[in-house]
Amino acid sequence: MIYHFGLTGYPLGHSLSPIILQTALQSTGQAGDYKLFPMKSEFSLESLLLLLRQGELHGLNVTIPHKQNVLQYVDLLSHTAKMTGAINTLYLRGDQLVGDNTDVSGFLTDLNEKIGGQGIRHSALILGAGGAARAVAIGLLSVGWQVSIAARNFQQAQNTVEALSPWARSGYLQAFPLTMSPIEEIIDQIGLLVNATPAGMSPNILLDPLPAEIHLPQQIALYDLVYNPETTILMKRFQENGKLAFNGLGMLVEQGAQSFELWTGIFVSRSVLWNALSMRRDG
Ligand code: NAP
Repeated sequence: MIYHFGLTGYPLGHSLSPIILQTALQSTGQAGDYKLFPMKSEFSLESLLLLLRQGELHGLNVTIPHKQNVLQYVDLLSHTAKMTGAINTLYLRGDQLVGDNTDVSGFLTDLNEKIGGQGIRHSALILGAGGAARAVAIGLLSVGWQVSIAARNFQQAQNTVEALSPWARSGYLQAFPLTMSPIEEIIDQIGLLVNATPAGMSPNILLDPLPAEIHLPQQIALYDLVYNPETTILMKRFQENGKLAFNGLGMLVEQGAQSFELWTGIFVSRSVLWNALSMRRDG
């Protein structure tokens, strides 16, 4: 069989997904390709999804700005896609077009690899209240963490908390404005800060999403979903204070690998994917 996979979203120019998925194909001995389908508006989404229905595409990843836009076109939603209200992976099962979301387990798997066994308090503060924040919150709530969501638009944080409340135990999910004093009040209770905003991402590498006056408590680690640059301004702040800090590359690798596994049923070695990414970086 020759597999045809792809990615839609906009812009896609700097996407690392082709390296991850092409390496997955090659390293597992599968013939095929992974193409980019840049799409600024949602206007042509339905015709792209027709390629999946017709068997001309065997798997499609979806990124910003279409993770919600594709919801209306699928026949079935996985449990995680339903919970997050977003799709990042599509495939056909029988004659049903399925929308799935591997961001949730991609984040959790990588987080566990990075901080599992470090004794970090299971209480997280997520900065941002968009699609990625939802995926992170759903993942953490599902394994019993307490979650606080802070956004510069407080209403957005409140809406996200309200949407996720069916999956949270009472008192486990709260919204805050992303400003100095409310964050200062809770920061000492936080074991993990997650940046789920694009602040700090190239080209805005000097934009720090956490108010500068916040004093980092003793026991706090950072997971920054941004991975370009590899060390973000917020990661530097944590590292300079002797704290653990990770970027979002591991989540990207995991969600891509898990998409490949859903599409093909074939396991892909994560270390092979990491090697391919580091060769590109060094090359
Ligand atoms: P999104 O739906 O657009 O949400 C972004 C959130 O960040 C919104 O709450 C937004 O608030 C807020 N925000 C934007 N700029 C900000 C700033 N300068 N300061 C404070 N808050 C700000 O985007 P998303 O899909 O959630 O993605 C968020 C980030 O995660 C992106 O950088 C994306 O590349 C990254 N991501 C990484 C992975 C991975 O695998 N590592 C996976 C998914 C996403 P407003 O509405 O007020 O702008």
